[in-house]
Amino acid sequence: MTTQLIRNFVGGEFLEGGTGFDNVNPVDGSVLSVVSEADRGIVNSAVGAAQKALEGPWGRYTANQRAAVMRRIAERIEERFDDLLAAEIGDTGKPEALARDLDVSRASLNFSAFADMIATAGVDSYLTEFPDGRRALNYALRKPLGVVAVIVPWNLPLLLLTWKVAPAIACGNAVVVKPSEETPTSATLLGEIMKEAGLPDGVYNVVHGFGAGSAGEFLTTADGVDGITFTGESSTGSTIMRAAAPKVRPVSFELGGKNAALVFADANIEQAVAGLTRSIFTNTGQVCLCTERVYIQRPIFDEVVAGLAEHAKSLVLGKPFDKGTTTGPLISQKHRDKVLSYFEKAEVEGGTAIVGGRIPDMPADLAQGSWVLPTLWTGLAHNSSPMREEVFGPVAGLIPFDTEDEAVRLANDTQYGLAASVWTGNLERGHRVGGRMRTGISWVNTWYMRDLRSPFGGTGLSGIGREGGTNSLHFYTDPTNVCINL
Ligand code: NAD
Repeated sequence: MTTQLIRNFVGGEFLEGGTGFDNVNPVDGSVLSVVSEADRGIVNSAVGAAQKALEGPWGRYTANQRAAVMRRIAERIEERFDDLLAAEIGDTGKPEALARDLDVSRASLNFSAFADMIATAGVDSYLTEFPDGRRALNYALRKPLGVVAVIVPWNLPLLLLTWKVAPAIACGNAVVVKPSEETPTSATLLGEIMKEAGLPDGVYNVVHGFGAGSAGEFLTTADGVDGITFTGESSTGSTIMRAAAPKVRPVSFELGGKNAALVFADANIEQAVAGLTRSIFTNTGQVCLCTERVYIQRPIFDEVVAGLAEHAKSLVLGKPFDKGTTTGPLISQKHRDKVLSYFEKAEVEGGTAIVGGRIPDMPADLAQGSWVLPTLWTGLAHNSSPMREEVFGPVAGLIPFDTEDEAVRLANDTQYGLAASVWTGNLERGHRVGGRMRTGISWVNTWYMRDLRSPFGGTGLSGIGREGGTNSLHFYTDPTNVCINL
């Protein structure tokens, strides 16, 4: 069997780079494909292709014409759903149902939702009146930024990529995408889909490789990049910010988190336990919004802990297409080493793994996969490292609290500020505590319910700026205010 080659996509053509690296299946450690790494020349060609596209017919498309292409892209994603599903599952090892319901469906929705938004977007305008009777009309024309670099991680590869590419294209930009080295396949397949849907060549380009000294760094430092949108680790965000600084290019960052959940004694415990199980373990804990800190009001602490432990034990680790599989592997052996280091730290720092805390015994054909058991800790101090640092695995620490103020203080006592969830039967408390969360997103009695028009992003180490709805339209455009003396 010949190994599949994943190539760069530049100006509508698939291009090979000089060196290749292995794309490993985290389920069993097998090599799925070889990825063609983009050198600086290929990255510069991609940026050049994007610039050329902006100078061509794409630069003159009306908002409605862009929306029409985007609707065709959304349709084509639906038509090629199974190809994208296979790509996403191969690269990540996630259960089929999750890839189907979350990843691939959202990719199509990202395009159709932003097509609707751009087709109906207005412009800011003000009628200005001066004391001496003069009047003026101000209106802000929104123009594309130009060439946007889109750098994304491996946890929800297609969802996160399209979440940025769709609004960027809606606003008339051309993009150069750098998917994660762990998950190169769906971004490449999307190149074919873009062509099939009639997107002009050069509007969507893909370069493969790593960060420092590779395609990521080459892209963020390339001449001709007009803005950078990035999702990934906070420390990578600060490196990219330094790369963007010399030319003062705008950045939009969706970074790490250490998300808290607050469970009050008046909560519907069954609902809270089911919701927390999702929020801790979805995608093997590898969602930036996942909960890793759970603060539980003391009278219900034991009951919630027992409920969560029972649910965690019922999760089924296995192959993505096996019926009943709820939980896949971590993305890589390297990432598993990081998660395992927190298993050790938790033990050293006084925690007890009431569930998990080790590598599971998997059948021989899966033994080389990156598996860990869903893990819950009790006994950890609020300021211990597993409770302060992002683990990005199927883990959470469970800590009791007494008062509402204490719970809010504990939840907000973090350098991060991405998401929180509040579980309570008291609606007044839900509004009050939900609003006091120092996070970009705060859920009450739910988790990961998204409206693509609402602001998405984080505060502190969790990011800069917000995307979603008009926030995205603002980031991906540069306004020129025209003032007419009436
Ligand atoms: P990462 O920062 O290691 O990598 C993300 C992307 O950046 C990859 O494509 C990588 O190749 C590239 N990169 C790395 N170094 C670079 C450099 N110096 N210059 C340019 N590009 C570089 O993150 P990851 O491990 O892929 O993803 C996990 C992280 O992403 C977690 O911290 C998670 O919380 C975060 N995340 C955040 C959100 C959000 O919306 N806030 C969503 C998903 C994931």
